[in-house]
Amino acid sequence: MRRKLVAANWKMNGDKATVESLLSEFVQNVDGQSIDAVVFPPALYVGQVADKLAGSGIEFGTQNVHHADKGAFTGELSLSMVKEFGCRYVLVGHSERRELFGEDDALVADKVAAALAADVTPMLCVGETLEQREQGVTEKVVGGQIQAVLDKVGIAAFERIVIAYEPVWAIGTGKTATPEQAQEVHAFIRKQLAGSDESVARKCRLLYGGSVKAANAQELFKQPDIDGGLVGGASLLADEFIAICQAAK
Ligand code: 13P
Repeated sequence: MRRKLVAANWKMNGDKATVESLLSEFVQNVDGQSIDAVVFPPALYVGQVADKLAGSGIEFGTQNVHHADKGAFTGELSLSMVKEFGCRYVLVGHSERRELFGEDDALVADKVAAALAADVTPMLCVGETLEQREQGVTEKVVGGQIQAVLDKVGIAAFERIVIAYEPVWAIGTGKTATPEQAQEVHAFIRKQLAGSDESVARKCRLLYGGSVKAANAQELFKQPDIDGGLVGGASLLADEFIAICQAAK
């Protein structure tokens, strides 16, 4: 009953020619009718992406956003700006934002709240580091990241939030979580949400991210609590991303 969602996070990669060629392939080969497909290009290319994806059924968004609507925030983008360009989604709290740019749970919660207020779907990223997994605190870490947002926006808002579980140790390492490892954390997240509201927990989509590729997508997406994927490296390869989208059907 939860529609599968597959998202491409291009991070800081690509150029105009790459955007053009990847999206030409996606538009022809990704079935935006039977799954939700979303592309997150570097923000500068959002206008080009909007033109290219018009009428395709594939959605797009930015990889980050500021929570204020406007003001003296050099280098930042507001939700009204991304909305004006047709973004329906924003990534919030990606582990690279948390680790490299100092985003903490409180800031992430503010961004989620601002996205919801602007009627843009936040894709909330959570996940533990290798050290945390080895210390056995995965559930504490992931649960805490989600709880900070729950405290801010309330459980009902989670019907409009997509959660992406991305174990940091699996990102860009080629070391995917096994379907069982991923399912275990997804089930934990759903149970956490169900603790506040079972119906919302059943509806909320939980994506897995971390070295998703064509070769492992099907096994991951077969898990009962995995509703799709957030794909980094493999989303820069047209054939890989198209195959991952097909695996979600
Ligand atoms: P990779 O698919 O390259 O591991 O990246 C995952 C990710 O961070 C997507 O947001």
